[in-house]
Amino acid sequence: MSTVLVTGGAGYIGSHVCKALAAAGHTPVAFDNLSQGHLWAVRWGPLVDGDIRDRDAVLGALRNYKADAVVHLAAHSYVGESMLHPERYWDNNVVGSRVLLEAMREDGPRLLIFSSTCATYGLPKTVPVTEETPQLPISTYGATKLAVEHMIADYARSYGFKQAVFRYFNAAGADPDSEIGEAHDPETHLIPNVLDVARGARSHVDVFGADYETPDGTCVRDYVHVSDIADAHVLALGALSQGDSGIVCNLGASVGYSVMDIVKAVRKVTGANVPHRITARRPGDPAVVTADATFAERRLGWRRRHSDLETIISTAWAWGQAYHSSHMRPAARQA
Ligand code: UDP
Repeated sequence: MSTVLVTGGAGYIGSHVCKALAAAGHTPVAFDNLSQGHLWAVRWGPLVDGDIRDRDAVLGALRNYKADAVVHLAAHSYVGESMLHPERYWDNNVVGSRVLLEAMREDGPRLLIFSSTCATYGLPKTVPVTEETPQLPISTYGATKLAVEHMIADYARSYGFKQAVFRYFNAAGADPDSEIGEAHDPETHLIPNVLDVARGARSHVDVFGADYETPDGTCVRDYVHVSDIADAHVLALGALSQGDSGIVCNLGASVGYSVMDIVKAVRKVTGANVPHRITARRPGDPAVVTADATFAERRLGWRRRHSDLETIISTAWAWGQAYHSSHMRPAARQA
């Protein structure tokens, strides 16, 4: 059983990774500056309140907890923001990753699982996207994640790091026990926005473009359940611990749904009327991005247990209901 430093462990995906690690008998240590993460999401191990750009803080955490491995998720992750403030992304995502890798090289484990993104593929010419699809990012966010992929490959080659890189497609849904879930502020992602309309917190959802070359004219994406994503990290940890290395996998559901498919699925799951309004395209949105995730199945034995659309929406809905009506928000504020 391993002690695992999880950077970004108080965030949406990070907290689900911590839960999955703990369920498998490992000890997750969340390392998070709480700029986007939440105290209430740290439930399965200690929290180190620190920034990945702070070498002493990272080294201290690696040493204090004698970490056997690092799962590195801490990053800025908004495509739109990355185009407005690229320096933030190069600083946090790339400089931060370099500080982390150097701390690991100095006095830490050389076993790393890194969260990359389908945004590294840019506007893929063909779908579904395999791991061999050319990586030609069109956003600063995608470019910074690709830069870190290269950095990690170099550290593997030159310093013996064992590494797994996961390219997430659209992480969605929430913990089936409703203990944790997505809570961004501001929220820009489609599914939580549509659910906000269903619970009456927004009047309507904006559909960004209905003139794409897709069956209903709206963009098609690959939504994969966050708990399934988390499971892949546990599998990778097992594989790396047994000497495996150089794992690079897409994590997607291998199914595409349009924006209007999502709106309809939310209507079905919640029973709510979900008004929508067609607006202009969002700059930089490809028409269709779907994953070929069969390699993760073959390489790691990854099985998706929750990534059917109904489970994605119903877990996110249940979590949102609990989050907005329970003590979680006030408790988080007091803390
Ligand atoms: N989208 C939308 N309205 C929204 C939010 C998103 O129509 O309020 C669309 C967006 O253009 C994209 C899809 O929904 O085609 C998924 O967007 P999201 O921001 O959730 O994830 P992304 O694919 O950008 O990572």
